[in-house]
Amino acid sequence: MKCTVCKHGETRPGAVSVTLERQGATLVFRQVPAQVCDNCGEAYHDEVVSMQLLQKAEEAVRAGVEVDVRRYAAA
Ligand SMILES: [Zn+2]
Repeated sequence: MKCTVCKHGETRPGAVSVTLERQGATLVFRQVPAQVCDNCGEAYHDEVVSMQLLQKAEEAVRAGVEVDVRRYAAA
């Protein structure tokens, strides 16, 4: 698809790191599948991936995690 940020690039399948901050906790997910713009590098996640990221972040916050770096794995 066409990138909606720079409006020039085309997105291609790839993987990116995503950092989420929740209630003082910092969570980094590596190798998250995404469509990445070949021009500006903006990453787009599909709905399922975004949902899972938020879910995993909530779980980590509930478990008392403050800083965490993990590899994203599709459930
Ligand atoms: Zn772009």
